[in-house]
Amino acid sequence: MSLDVYAFMCKALSEARKAAAHGEVPVGAVIADAEGRVMARAFNRTVSLHDPTAHAEILALREAAAQCGNYRLTGSTLVVTVEPCPMCMGAALNARIARLVFGAFDPKWGAAGSLYNLAQDARLNHRIEVTSGVCEEACRRLMQDFFQARRKTAGQKRRGTEVVVTGSTRNRLVPLEAGHVGSNPTLSATFKHKN
Ligand code: ZN
Repeated sequence: MSLDVYAFMCKALSEARKAAAHGEVPVGAVIADAEGRVMARAFNRTVSLHDPTAHAEILALREAAAQCGNYRLTGSTLVVTVEPCPMCMGAALNARIARLVFGAFDPKWGAAGSLYNLAQDARLNHRIEVTSGVCEEACRRLMQDFFQARRKTAGQKRRGTEVVVTGSTRNRLVPLEAGHVGSNPTLSATFKHKN
């Protein structure tokens, strides 16, 4: 069956906005089964879970596998707002995901064509069909806005401007103080250059 990739990307974007609201790098993922039904949805939670593997894709894959009682998600589609990193592509390959749909490219971490192409590596025993650039502008804008706001807050902090630290803002400041930007330091650089 043909999947309405735009409808699914809207759901993934909705997840990404939840991540931003929690002070996490705004990446969202949805998994659809072979019949086009939603199996799982998740957003990036590396900061709140203190877990470097808690990318949206990994959390969605775990949930989908638990739902169907099988780590192999044969015939399913992973829809994610930003091109997956090598870890997430490895997990998608292990899950036998049939198709990947993503929005914004990530030239610093992307493993579905940008930096590596793990989706179509003949040395691996599984291939993933890739559809890229779906709602690309919206997905990229979300990342740019997030990092722009973060840099602004960091600049105020460096200049000694009083910054009221509450709720999700506090979560955003913690990695900055540690010299990191959320789960994926180079994403910041990537999207900074696009500003
Ligand atoms: Zn990842």
